[in-house]
Amino acid sequence: MRIPFFLFVFAAALQAQTPELETYIEVRTGTLPIVLTVPHGGTLKPESLLARRYGVTGIDSNTIPLSEMIIEELAARYGGKPHVIISRLSRSKLDPNRDLEEAAQGDPTAIAAWHRFHDSTQKACNAVMKKSGMGLLLDIHGHRHLDQRVELGYLVKAEVLKHSDAELNADAALIASTSIRDLDKRSPQSFAQLLRGPQSLGALLEFRGFRCMPSGSKSNPAFLAGYFSGAYDVTAHGSSKSGTVSAIQVECPWNNVRDTPENQRRFAIALADSLGVYFEVHFGRKLK
Ligand SMILES: [Zn+2]
Repeated sequence: MRIPFFLFVFAAALQAQTPELETYIEVRTGTLPIVLTVPHGGTLKPESLLARRYGVTGIDSNTIPLSEMIIEELAARYGGKPHVIISRLSRSKLDPNRDLEEAAQGDPTAIAAWHRFHDSTQKACNAVMKKSGMGLLLDIHGHRHLDQRVELGYLVKAEVLKHSDAELNADAALIASTSIRDLDKRSPQSFAQLLRGPQSLGALLEFRGFRCMPSGSKSNPAFLAGYFSGAYDVTAHGSSKSGTVSAIQVECPWNNVRDTPENQRRFAIALADSLGVYFEVHFGRKLK
């Protein structure tokens, strides 16, 4: 049987593309019910990819080494590794934390890389659901807002965080639209407590020396202060639409978190310790 010529061309293109896609989007399979996505730490700027013409292009410096330490600290405590998806491409070439059009802006290789990032992330979430029934995705970022706190994004906008705990807890439509919709159903604590109670992720990190928002000490951002409430990754892969993997966008400040290897390590230790408590309190199971 003759194989049509176009299939040869297609196969050759695929072969040529696959190794570089694996370099651009690094995927590691894990065993813990945790998925780490790192969309903005990459520095590769291959000339074969078009530069993005609009949107944010600045990278989240040091989020890749920070994530490597988080992976190490999780492994040291819980006897397994998280699933990991890292974009090694500079944000000037691909922004995985946006819809496809803004992310890749028409470049065929960037489009393929975006698909690899999100297909791999969804596969990781599916593997977590199959093995553990539930899990948590952390989308690791860096911000340069004046208030140098760790910003935790659950798809709850800054102006909504100004509502009282009672108002938040009564807003079923709001809760159902967040990236922790499924976790809210599992946790014995209220939705407001999940966001800023004494055992919220923000409070657990503050107890270990890192100021956060939202948290017990800061329930909502100051007037005109920046705050990232979560974007494409936690919307696409969190539990707002379906599934039992909830997602949190973790925006790390530069000062005291990303700036030096020592501070990166301190934060990785605090986050790994906090997640153990968080799983027991809210997921009702040990992290392992
Ligand atoms: Zn970012």
